Amino acid sequence: MAGIYFHIPFCKRACHYCDFHFSTSLKLKDELLEAMKREIMLQKHYLANQKIQTIYFGGGTPSILRADEIQKLLDEISHFHDVDPDAEITMEANPDDLDAEKIKSLRQTQVNRFSIGIQSFFNEDLIWMNRAHLAVEAETSVKRVQDAGFENITADLIYGYPLLTDDKWTHNIDQLIQFDIPHISAYSMTVEPKTALASFIRRGKQIPMDEVQSSAQFIILIDKLASANFEHYEISNFAKPGNYSKHNSNYWNGISYLGIGPSAHSFNGKSRQWNIANNSRYVESLSQNNVPAEIEILSNANRLNEYIMTSLRTIWGMDLNKIEIDFGKEALQLIKSDINQFTEKKWLLKNGELITLSSEGKLFADRIAAELFVDESSFL
Ligand code: SF4
Repeated sequence: MAGIYFHIPFCKRACHYCDFHFSTSLKLKDELLEAMKREIMLQKHYLANQKIQTIYFGGGTPSILRADEIQKLLDEISHFHDVDPDAEITMEANPDDLDAEKIKSLRQTQVNRFSIGIQSFFNEDLIWMNRAHLAVEAETSVKRVQDAGFENITADLIYGYPLLTDDKWTHNIDQLIQFDIPHISAYSMTVEPKTALASFIRRGKQIPMDEVQSSAQFIILIDKLASANFEHYEISNFAKPGNYSKHNSNYWNGISYLGIGPSAHSFNGKSRQWNIANNSRYVESLSQNNVPAEIEILSNANRLNEYIMTSLRTIWGMDLNKIEIDFGKEALQLIKSDINQFTEKKWLLKNGELITLSSEGKLFADRIAAELFVDESSFL
């Protein structure tokens, strides 16, 4: 079993906080879609004939594409891979793209799950973020997608930025709960270097994000969604029972995936590779039948650290038995000795050989994982 990720590197405008790869010019769109089809062909052996269980259109903004452009990419995948008839096929979409006609045309494709970038239901917040949509589109888009017969929907929200009071945050969460969608993702606003937001803060035009506010709003989120019967199955992801994202769950469980498009990453258990994050150079390279990717062969330390990082963030937790089997007794001893400080503080919970974050530990997930990381010399 394996997954495919498409990176669609176009957006209508640049959100101030975003450091993903995208262009606001659609000039190269047709050439780029052709190059992506060529990449599918050139990478046809990457997943070693494993059945495709999930396909994910991310970006950028995949909903910028027409339905027939999306379907052509899917057809190309089916041409070279065995796609499970029940595959989860997700498309990220921005509310301003989801008019009735677009949704109707997407109903004719194999897309069966939407991830809608709501972020907020307040106009002033959306304007502050430089999003392309307003609150009314955030509200109507979810309803329209549901009315067209799509049930498998997730929506994103952002918290922890200066404009967002706890009352507004509560309102945003309540709005999504009211829509009766089965999955919600919520992310704390982070300030990435080279973004407009980072530049505003550097120049004193914007106050920095406040970690205390972010933690408080994370706790509000967890409590409200637990009361609404959502399971907190990954640090930023919540689902009604049986509605976990298959694609993302596979990432976190170390399943192989192939990434197609500029800046897309691929992983096959042994190595990781990432395509060039430049649309014109991507197109040019593919026109000469070269996939413009850098490859990193993963060392044991890399693989173990990735396992620590991803597993601790999930409901399934970190399995000490797996660490012993995959990485050996010495690695296990190293991890075990470092875990104690966090079990004593009750940030980590130990149930047999399974280690999970406690409610308090969820506030420090990245810090805990970083403290447990091993270095290369541990495997010499
Ligand atoms: S729409 Fe998404 S990918 Fe595009 S700039 Fe905004 S956050 Fe980034």
